[in-house]
Amino acid sequence: MKIGFIGLGNMGAPMAANLAKHHEVTGFDTIAKPDGITMATSAADATKDADVVITMLPNGDILRAVAAEIHPVMKPGAIHLDCSTVDVESARAVATQADTHNLAAIDAPVSGGIGGAQAGTLTFMAGGPDAAFATVKPLFDIMGQKAVHCGPAGNGQAAKICNNMILGVTMIATCEAFVLADKLGLDRQAMFDVVSTSSGYSWTMNAYCPAPGIGPQSPADNDYKPGFAAELMLKDLNLSQMAAEAADADTPMGQAATALYRQFVENEDGKGKDFSAMLPRFEKRHRG
Ligand code: NAD
Repeated sequence: MKIGFIGLGNMGAPMAANLAKHHEVTGFDTIAKPDGITMATSAADATKDADVVITMLPNGDILRAVAAEIHPVMKPGAIHLDCSTVDVESARAVATQADTHNLAAIDAPVSGGIGGAQAGTLTFMAGGPDAAFATVKPLFDIMGQKAVHCGPAGNGQAAKICNNMILGVTMIATCEAFVLADKLGLDRQAMFDVVSTSSGYSWTMNAYCPAPGIGPQSPADNDYKPGFAAELMLKDLNLSQMAAEAADADTPMGQAATALYRQFVENEDGKGKDFSAMLPRFEKRHRG
């Protein structure tokens, strides 16, 4: 397969490198120049002969701008596979535009972070037509370990932001419960032993425990270096609230989590720390 790859940053570069072991990959990025990938001088040049064009870009506005540039030059029948995390509306707009150029579009945001991109163990949540999903499935298998087809265009993004809204809310709940336990004189190991096997268990407690030295290894054991940075959690929570606003969905916990992560990232030195650093944040605070 001939693959064009636009956006070779922290995630895109290792994903493209894994694909280049099996397919012909031509990349384009406005800044990054990763080793080992043949680079074109424009997005159009990287995509005009491609069977599949993958984009891995920072946000929906940039995705729309790149799509407007590449769709007119892509081969009819080719597939635009966007793996960025963007708003549902942009994903659907890009799919509609692709259709007018006789292209297929799949939105397939990922979870698994930079480590997963390097190791080829990402999880993809995909929206778009069945036939196009089947065509790109072998590429998901190279870049990741799991791909779930969630329905039509935009549903991959919908699945991602719903998952990450739960993640943000449960991380906050786990961190505030640890701080309450501390103040009640409950040992953290005892707290973990009870909650991780009781009805309060969650991925944030059992697999990514925010308390250093407790549970499996996590960013808390590495001075809260990300991992999954607080500002990326804030990005995804903001997307969840944009979507909730557009769909008229009542999401009070998502809204509260968004406000807390915004405060943490913008006013409390949370930028650059793992999103589980909410625990030391709560430790420093008092009620009221
Ligand atoms: P990044 O900023 O490292 O990479 C984005 C790349 O896009 C940069 O190299 C930038 O130069 C390039 N770019 C920007 N505008 C461009 C344009 N018009 N044309 C061509 N290239 C352009 O970001 P990242 O961490 O690789 O994340 C990419 C996407 O993946 C984001 O949507 C992010 O939310 C999502 N994501 C990231 C992680 C993570 O852990 N980093 C995890 C899951 C999902």
